[in-house]
Amino acid sequence: MPSPALAVALTRRLPDAIEQALAARYDLRLPVSDGAMSEVAMRALLSTNDVVICTVADPVGPGAIPDAPRTRLLANYGVGVNHLDLPALESAGIVVTNTPGVLTDATAELAITLMLMTARRAGEGERQLRAGQWQGWTPTHLPGMSLTGRKLGIVGMGRIGAETARRAARGLGMSIRYYSRSDVPPERMVGFAAERVSDLDALVAGVDVLSLHCPLTPETHHLIDARRLALMPAHGLLINTARGPVVDEAALGRALESGVIAGCGLDVFEHEPAIHPDLLRCERAVLLPHMGSATMEARTAMGQLVLENIGAWERGARPPNAVS
Ligand code: NAP
Repeated sequence: MPSPALAVALTRRLPDAIEQALAARYDLRLPVSDGAMSEVAMRALLSTNDVVICTVADPVGPGAIPDAPRTRLLANYGVGVNHLDLPALESAGIVVTNTPGVLTDATAELAITLMLMTARRAGEGERQLRAGQWQGWTPTHLPGMSLTGRKLGIVGMGRIGAETARRAARGLGMSIRYYSRSDVPPERMVGFAAERVSDLDALVAGVDVLSLHCPLTPETHHLIDARRLALMPAHGLLINTARGPVVDEAALGRALESGVIAGCGLDVFEHEPAIHPDLLRCERAVLLPHMGSATMEARTAMGQLVLENIGAWERGARPPNAVS
């Protein structure tokens, strides 16, 4: 029987059904605002609650971890954990969990959305129309690039990379190439063909659309920099639903401005929620506010996984999605 005294704090509001389920089981403490949380505020949460549920927008570095935290479980509402200092949390005795898998379809759908919007210049078209600048149909208005038959390069053939590839291959008739450090289990790529390219530079140079799906780690920070952007074909499109710092944003702005590549579709940014001014100026950049997992289905399922992780930890079992 769960203890009603277990104090569980949220850093952000969650879908109603999840908050209700948490409140029915625990002493649920809601955030005062849905805005950014300071290091001091995070330290206070970790000092006064048994469990803290955090999100990608709530970094937890050494400065946010109290010397004697009350918190024993940090349940991240999301799959990426690059915003959490895992070694520091582990030394403080705090178990970390995440919510993999349940947001895969939603994020893959968003990667395809960005590909289509970028290739077909949908953002430009909608901006023109809403600004009252559309003069009617003409044969030369906003010609884009068809994705049918084009080559898609996937960086990081994990859950989201594979589902993006599947949708691109089966729905859009794209041919798939990918770069992966390790062998990908064949069952992940059932139903579509994909060619592994052992050299990332060769992948970048040989595809029409490059889509990023690796986690942010020291190894992937600025993986796509000025040198790699210059390897892309001039008609090439870069799609990023992984993490902003995987791309050198200043270099991307320059590459777009000088025509080194044709366009980009971004859901994530290097200094969220700030956006590099060069990207804001660029018509061929499609910019979305980090909404990869933003479907009711995914956001509810993420909350269910958080509940399962807390429940297992409370029973003394290893949480199903422990990352440390
Ligand atoms: P996953 O299943 O773990 O897939 C990540 C893949 O990246 C793995 O196959 C991994 O393979 C590969 N990888 C790691 N380091 C690499 C490197 N240096 N070069 C090439 N590949 C590398 O994770 P996922 O669930 O697909 O999620 C992927 C990422 O998407 C998350 O970490 C998160 O940052 C991002 N995400 C964004 C949103 C959004 O809202 N935009 C939503 C969900 C997730 P190996 O480790 O075997 O090499």
